[in-house]
Amino acid sequence: MIHNFNAGPSAMPKEVFEQASEAIIDFNHSGLSILEIGHRTSMFQAVLDEAVATAKELMQLDSDHDVLFLHGGATTQFFQVPMNLLDENEVAAYLDCGVWGTKAIKEARIFGNVDVVASSKDKNYTYIPKNFSIPTNAKYFHYTTNNTIEGTEMNFIPETGIPLVADMSSDILSHELDFNRFALIYAGAQKNIGAAGVNLVVIRKDILGKTKRKLPAMMDYMKHIEAGSVLNTPPVFAIYVCMLTLRWLKNIGGIPAIEKLNKQKADLLYQTLDSIPIFRPTVAKEDRSRMNVVFVMEDQELERKFLQTCKENNMVGVKGHRSVGGFRVSLYNAVTLESVKAITSLMKEFASVNA
Ligand SMILES: *Cc1c(COP(=O)(O)O)cnc(C)c1O
Repeated sequence: MIHNFNAGPSAMPKEVFEQASEAIIDFNHSGLSILEIGHRTSMFQAVLDEAVATAKELMQLDSDHDVLFLHGGATTQFFQVPMNLLDENEVAAYLDCGVWGTKAIKEARIFGNVDVVASSKDKNYTYIPKNFSIPTNAKYFHYTTNNTIEGTEMNFIPETGIPLVADMSSDILSHELDFNRFALIYAGAQKNIGAAGVNLVVIRKDILGKTKRKLPAMMDYMKHIEAGSVLNTPPVFAIYVCMLTLRWLKNIGGIPAIEKLNKQKADLLYQTLDSIPIFRPTVAKEDRSRMNVVFVMEDQELERKFLQTCKENNMVGVKGHRSVGGFRVSLYNAVTLESVKAITSLMKEFASVNA
């Protein structure tokens, strides 16, 4: 058995693989593969409808919020957001808490002015800034709810009088949150929602149509809302896998159930790391991510050795991002408690031999 701690694309529920493989051979006993059905057929419409309805139900979204499945990954949202919401002479407020947030800021500057209200760059993004103030004349406030690379998480929703926009790529649907407080949410699917190639986007429509900029149709959120996510050929198979994953999450008890499991997983891993001196978690305790656990070892030789030990024990994806080094163990929704128990046992064993 392989224990998959990949940062993304990442572990997925086994039954989703099984159902997705079946659908490639014969989709719903239609005699056709999911890969060869039209995106405007009733067969695909049913998939899309269930995906949207399940996402809305899981997040308990009110009727002001629309759910879209769009192409291009979260990186496309970095520019699609300012393109739709920010005029050249206007200001958007951004929080800078890591590599992904920095990229979002860079893209927003193409379209307007960016006010970076706070940054944790001074300490290598190992904490979340608090007590920052957000200018009320800004068009929107953007932040990353979970910093995938650095391993920090925002455990509060900032108070603003302006529309809230969040990149939730690496922690959406992993714990309860008042999703209705956000005017726009986006998340690449490949961490907690399904297969790579599609984004989940949640929009409160009233924020749209306020800029002077002319938009290409594919970049225009309003056009996608009007077309119900089928403005052009959507990534049919990726959306199908999202639907299966959302259905899986609903069937196991939704966000409250997965939050409980995710807490068990993260608690076990952090407690283990805290109890073994050769491992050092890198981020401020109160800002620790439940999804991406980042740690280093002081001894480079031991780091190499532990990485090798993980490999020999069928644990994949534990090497840290090149910008941080060390290790990153990702604990997305589909990662089992069994896998976390396996790696924590291995850590204890390793420490008893190497400390
Ligand atoms: C993975 C990730 C991205 C990038 O997603 P792509 O789909 O590769 O564009 C952006 N933001 C966060 C927080 C991520 O975790």
